[in-house]
Amino acid sequence: MSYKLFGDLFRLAPYLALVILAAWLGQQEAFVVDSQFAATLPVLPYVLCFVGCLFAWNFKMSTSVLGFLVIGMVYWTSAMFLPYGNTADVFGDVLFAGLSILLPVNLVWLCWAEERGVLSRQGLIRLAIISAQFAFLLLFTYVIEGGLQQAVIAILNLQMISGFWTAWSNLPQLAIGAYIVSLGFMLLRFMLQRSPLQMGWISTLVASYFAFQEAGNPDQVALYISVALLALIIAKVQVSYQMAFVDELTSIPGRRALMSDMKKLGSKYVIAMSDIDHFKKFNDTYGHDIGDEVLRMVANRLSMVTGGGRAYRYGGEEFCILMPVGEVDKAIPHLEKLREVVEHSEFVIRSKNRPKKDKKGSKKRGASETNQSVQVTISIGVAAKGKMHADPMAVMKSADEALYRAKKKGRNQVAK
Ligand code: GH3
Ligand code: MG
Ligand code: MG
Repeated sequence: MSYKLFGDLFRLAPYLALVILAAWLGQQEAFVVDSQFAATLPVLPYVLCFVGCLFAWNFKMSTSVLGFLVIGMVYWTSAMFLPYGNTADVFGDVLFAGLSILLPVNLVWLCWAEERGVLSRQGLIRLAIISAQFAFLLLFTYVIEGGLQQAVIAILNLQMISGFWTAWSNLPQLAIGAYIVSLGFMLLRFMLQRSPLQMGWISTLVASYFAFQEAGNPDQVALYISVALLALIIAKVQVSYQMAFVDELTSIPGRRALMSDMKKLGSKYVIAMSDIDHFKKFNDTYGHDIGDEVLRMVANRLSMVTGGGRAYRYGGEEFCILMPVGEVDKAIPHLEKLREVVEHSEFVIRSKNRPKKDKKGSKKRGASETNQSVQVTISIGVAAKGKMHADPMAVMKSADEALYRAKKKGRNQVAK
């Protein structure tokens, strides 16, 4: 578990590297001020925003579409209306403070929000909520004057603690608070879900902070906003890769990954086919949901295969293992170990005895939760590449025939 967490945090590294690279780039005066790159820099966020929206829209990731839009709108608003280097006047007081609070709050909201479709009722309501925030900000900057405007300025720039503690930041205290709380909630979501998407949101949040921190320098703002958008785009690419190659139920590589890897096998390899024993009866006894949970746990055990092997969900309750060894006999000890591990695993099931639609039921859940321990076994058939069957599909067919023999001989065994 902790090992897995370490691995996940490690995968955060490329995103953090992106932010650090931007920070370094931003410090290179010659690069930003004199280069050709600097001339195109101000339009880069718009291009990335457009690309990101199209991409997310294509994958029906509505929260990300809104994420790109919010960042794009913050950039546009600040580029159009914010007097750079002079944030001390009334425009700066309302707009700068407002935008720096609005952005983290919306990013963390979208990070936690469920996908609801882009042009669905929910999607449009969300878009309206976001647009309204910008409209209010501009309203209080340009249209409403006098006492009401002063009150809004006072709220946005509220000093809650001594300025000494927040002197390291150019942002108003409320915005610093919003950033810290948002970061906390994004990390929590990341811990719970472990998806690259959350790593994208976290990096986006961090990069957007630096955009505000360097608000006096338009080049830096464009650079950091571009990084914020880029992090979200990279996360989208990673997620769509996962969607294609990782099995949704078990989180191990799926059929598409198997077919792709079978084309890249070396000169010697072994293919094993594995199937859970009497799983139909298991489903009938415990229900399909518990069946799914057991499937996830068996997949988890199989994914720990030794001997350089890799496990895939072939389909249903069948798994395939590719192993880079020359002979069946070299693979069998590793497969025996897997079979034993599954046999001796007691799968603890938390059954939720409540109707799914009952929203209030979530409170009662703790009380009615019962732990149940169940056991399953697997049968495995194995075959190696050889003179008889030279291509991967033929080896797989041979492994399938061996699996049939294992079942016939009484299940819970490895056959060749
Ligand atoms: P055998 O020992 O011969 O393999 O018996 P079996 O009952 O496992 O037979 P078979 O492999 O043909 O059964 C497949 C069953 O697996 C059918 C279905 O009920 C169950 N199954 C397939 N996919 C899933 C799934 O995604 N979730 C759940 N819960 N059950 C599945
Ligand atoms: Mg089967
Ligand atoms: Mg079966």
